[in-house]
Amino acid sequence: MKSIAWLALLCCLPCAALELPDMGASASSVLSPADEKRLGEGFMRQLRNGVDIIDDLEVNSYLNALGHQIAAYSDNPEQRFYFFVVNENSINAFAVPGGFVGVHSGLFLHTQNENELASVLAHEIAHVTQHHIARTMEASNNFSLPTMAAIVAAAIAGMKNPQVAEAAIAAVTAGNIQMQINFTRAHEEEADRVGMKMLADSGFDPRSMPIFFERLQASNRFYEGGLPEFLRTHPVTSNRVAEARDRAEQYPKKLLSDSPLYQLARAKLLFLSESDKTKLAKNLQRALQEARYRDERAVRYAIALCLLATREYSGVQPQLDWLVKHDTDRVAYRSLQARLAAAQNQPTQALQLYSKALQSYPNDPQLTLEYAELLLQQNRAATAKPLLLDLHLRNYPEYHRLLALVQRQIGEIVDSYFSMAEYYYSSGRTALALEQIKQARQLKGLDFYQASRIEARHHELQQELHEENAAKKRDQH
Ligand SMILES: [Zn+2]
Repeated sequence: MKSIAWLALLCCLPCAALELPDMGASASSVLSPADEKRLGEGFMRQLRNGVDIIDDLEVNSYLNALGHQIAAYSDNPEQRFYFFVVNENSINAFAVPGGFVGVHSGLFLHTQNENELASVLAHEIAHVTQHHIARTMEASNNFSLPTMAAIVAAAIAGMKNPQVAEAAIAAVTAGNIQMQINFTRAHEEEADRVGMKMLADSGFDPRSMPIFFERLQASNRFYEGGLPEFLRTHPVTSNRVAEARDRAEQYPKKLLSDSPLYQLARAKLLFLSESDKTKLAKNLQRALQEARYRDERAVRYAIALCLLATREYSGVQPQLDWLVKHDTDRVAYRSLQARLAAAQNQPTQALQLYSKALQSYPNDPQLTLEYAELLLQQNRAATAKPLLLDLHLRNYPEYHRLLALVQRQIGEIVDSYFSMAEYYYSSGRTALALEQIKQARQLKGLDFYQASRIEARHHELQQELHEENAAKKRDQH
């Protein structure tokens, strides 16, 4: 029963959560930054087990650049942030301690311009910097960090399951609902107010926040289950919209042109979240013919992505030619050109394209990973390794997997086991991570340094697995 209640609290996370009064402790003293970071990373690993996270470096790089641009103007610039997209059609976003902010693909696609997306991120960033969630969790319970991380992740995964959500709502209703609503409003209003200031300071249009909320409200009738999740978890009353509008009016008006990177990332996300690429390509081609679009290059880019995925290669190049001619040089187009060459069995040409692109965009994560993957296929792991080691993609499991394969091809077997363990660990599969370290332990001829490194990681992972299992057991009771 208790864990169900927690599901509710956090599934409505952070906004419909049971908010407790500030007991006089300063917010930042509730959880230490190190604890918050551990909680967030644990959460991220657990979440990967339950939901489909879109690990696309183009979308990710864009979203993180946007989020960090806003977070730089928070009153806590030291707070670290990581933004990611969950592959879910529903309209929602959430934040957890440690600065992890998730945006559902449905919400991203529902925004019409960068300012609207920025306003959602600013609101979530404010929940983090104001320690709304950490404060609630810490004050309410004395759960261990791995337990909390598991519960938060289960709550978010549970949003997909209406039965879980229903049971959760029932459980909360039994509690002191009036108090929850009051404190929820306080947090929502604070997140709006603090978020809006950040939005304005970082050069975005604060008016986008009430505009986006109103548009969500207006589209209610299109949702069978009533309100879009974002409104349920971040309840928007008419009063709150009015307040946000009044507040926004106090900022000077801005005329902002739309960001092409927003349009391209949105096009990529549209492509990724649609399973029937042939159908999507047809719809987009029709939209192009009828000139029904906000940004022509985004439509053409999405068409090219669809055609590459469905192996209709002859249709890709004309779109690419148009993009290169009418737009500036971009990582997205360089990557597409190289992938087209690789798909058409021209690896040498593809390698040259990547190598050239990386001269223009050194250390670009998307180009580097794609290049490394192709080098690996061409038995050139030694060239790929230093490029990969220059990247810092800790939260990105695929990076660790690729590094492991590269290390294996070069014959760095111990390192390869470590990287593969990191791949499993970062994707929430701690038992499989431990298995990799156990295999490394069996290797013959380990030197002292290698042996002690293996023992240390073995010990850490065993400990972690133990805590995770204990947390699961507690959660079942
Ligand atoms: Zn909120």
